Amino acid sequence: MDYQAEKTLLEHKTILVTGAGDGIGRQAALTYAAHGATVILLGKTVAKLEAVYDEIEALGAPTPAIIPLDMKGATVANYKDMADTIDTQFGKLDGLLNNAGQLGVLGPFHQIDEKSYDEVMQVNVKAQLFMTSALLPVLKKADKASIIFTSSSVGVKGRAYWAEYAISKFATEGMMQTLADEFENTSIRANCINPGATRTGMRAKAFPGENANTLVTAEDIMPLYLYLMGNDSVAETGKTFKAQPNR
Ligand code: NDP
Repeated sequence: MDYQAEKTLLEHKTILVTGAGDGIGRQAALTYAAHGATVILLGKTVAKLEAVYDEIEALGAPTPAIIPLDMKGATVANYKDMADTIDTQFGKLDGLLNNAGQLGVLGPFHQIDEKSYDEVMQVNVKAQLFMTSALLPVLKKADKASIIFTSSSVGVKGRAYWAEYAISKFATEGMMQTLADEFENTSIRANCINPGATRTGMRAKAFPGENANTLVTAEDIMPLYLYLMGNDSVAETGKTFKAQPNR
């Protein structure tokens, strides 16, 4: 996307990024902080979150916060507690990037394993649904709030051997559209980003034989992440945006 964000685009905004310790989420957290946001870093591996925290401090950006949470085992009560803590500490939430996700197991349809399917649906769909739901009261306290979900090309067109992940991403598209419709003409907007093939650990796991140097980096796709999080996109809701229109 050809979008040049103002350096101050996200000043005075508090933004929660899930899966902020690695890959696209890590880069989004750094980028949002560099544009003035106070970023709440949520993820599974504390050491990774602490490393991002240190990088943000080194940028001289607003001091971030860390929420260590494994979305595989988290409960609705955990999300409500988290929302209360954010309310107490920050008074509002301006942005939520639902980015954390798992690939699950790729394989033939008839071999889909129930345990693996449940885990992918738990992390990619159910956890995001109940976290977003719990955060709505603090999102309503912001003047303008942006919720971004992370989709995929296989969330709009199925692909052989990708059932677990593809089904979870179709559900993500449905979650975003339902939420956007329900909050039409309010201060809350919701959209999806389809990042397209991006050089991360998940991509390497899905395509082990691929030359990663042929892929864009997470940094390359940040203009869309900035556009949808900042106020330049207030009129956008209920849409899916491709970070790489040609992929
Ligand atoms: P990575 O695997 O590189 O990063 C995923 C992040 O999610 C990690 O920080 C990971 O934490 C976190 N995470 C995974 N499981 C959990 C969990 N149970 N609880 C909390 N956090 C968790 O993936 P990408 O950066 O590539 O992907 C980011 C998003 O983009 C995903 O939703 C993915 O589906 C989507 N996407 C990616 C594409 C690509 O080409 N890279 C293409 C299309 C969509 P930890 O490191 O601690 O495990």
